[in-house]
Amino acid sequence: MSKRKYRQSPPKAHIGPQPGSLPGLLTEVPPLIRIEREVEEEFRPQIRARLEERICQEGEQRAMLGAPKCESCDLPMWSRGYSKTHFLTRFGKVELVDATYECRLCHQRVRPLLRRLGAEVGRISGSFARLAALLGIVVPYPLASQLVELFFGIKLSPMSVWRCVQRLGEASERYTTELSEYHNSPHADAVSPRDAPDVVVLGVDGCALGMQVRSKRRRREPGVELPPLPVVEEGHFREVKTGVLLLPAERVQPSPGRQSVVRRALVTCLGDADQIFDRLWSKIHQLRWLGVHTVVVIVGDGAEWIWNRAATFSRCCEVLDFWHAVEKAWVFARAHFGEGAKRADTFVARIVKDLREGKVQDVLARLNKIEARTPEAAEALASLIKYYTDNARRMRYDEYLRLGYGIGSGAVESAHKQVVHARMRQAGMRWSEAGARRLLALRILLLNGAWSEINRLAMVRAVA
Ligand SMILES: [Zn+2]
Repeated sequence: MSKRKYRQSPPKAHIGPQPGSLPGLLTEVPPLIRIEREVEEEFRPQIRARLEERICQEGEQRAMLGAPKCESCDLPMWSRGYSKTHFLTRFGKVELVDATYECRLCHQRVRPLLRRLGAEVGRISGSFARLAALLGIVVPYPLASQLVELFFGIKLSPMSVWRCVQRLGEASERYTTELSEYHNSPHADAVSPRDAPDVVVLGVDGCALGMQVRSKRRRREPGVELPPLPVVEEGHFREVKTGVLLLPAERVQPSPGRQSVVRRALVTCLGDADQIFDRLWSKIHQLRWLGVHTVVVIVGDGAEWIWNRAATFSRCCEVLDFWHAVEKAWVFARAHFGEGAKRADTFVARIVKDLREGKVQDVLARLNKIEARTPEAAEALASLIKYYTDNARRMRYDEYLRLGYGIGSGAVESAHKQVVHARMRQAGMRWSEAGARRLLALRILLLNGAWSEINRLAMVRAVA
């Protein structure tokens, strides 16, 4: 170690307020911040005017196409004349005059320009709706509403942010469901890509989400405070599952002992085991990662429902998560040797070493000779022996390490926390089924690095 580290630094001059005096803020906002804001405010009306101008140009081009055809009847529609309309963009409220058409047969009305723009009368439209939704899926709605104002200088209620999330989330969830149904249907193209990877690692994790007891949102009457929500009772939880696909060949070590993956693909659902595996199947095909020779390495914590679906893949390798195997040894060691006992450390360290070397049968032989000291320890020992015996064929860790498969489910556990916990498991949160699905759909888009897909999803009607 260099000497420099031990050289004493000179005593620092006292900065900041004198002890005992009230701390103060800067006496004025630094000019740069003030000027930035002023320039933005100065040009905002001009930007909006230019936006309206460009929209008018679109309208003129649209008008040259003549009357649109009715989508249901395929007949040319009749003009109902021009009228004023408006919608909200990131530069504020845009007002314009546009044409309305009506079908004489089914009386359906359309505003072709708004449809072309992807805007809706009186509503938050375009990129502003997407950005509001983005904030709403990252932080709770009231906070997202504050951020919208700080970022764009436009007031948007938490409810408006919520609506953007619902409408875009519904669109995204529908698209994912349709894709999954397509890839799981017998009609799907069964081409196996030639350049598919040799190995894909697949992991699944789940947790319970507190659900709303009532099916409808509560409405606040003017002047009446809503009573507090009842405690979530048993049975009002739903399991959320997250699945991860990654290529072990792409694992990198940013620092010694820390693994990270370059690419990973996430799927999630508020549903059963079949649904998450349908989505994983769909995703692996979208990525073109499943070839004839691809080995799918399934990392699980020992839950049967995961192993039961391994047969989905013709070539697969089941791996019991190494840390679950070790944790199980700890449970027994603590019961047998006592909490914090040094012998427990030594005992587990030896198991860790042997398991890494693939010697699960040696470990089992040793465990079978142990005489437990207490009934609690005996129970833990029996459970440990059963766990290792049941999963022995999934514990060839020496082989998995040699083949570069990895042995832990860390990637899926951290992914699941990012997808679900970070936004949806904060204190007191509970969700409607539709609300949770929509939020999950959008969070997956963001965490998969595919947020720009949101621009190619039309906002749909979202029924609560
Ligand atoms: Zn019609």
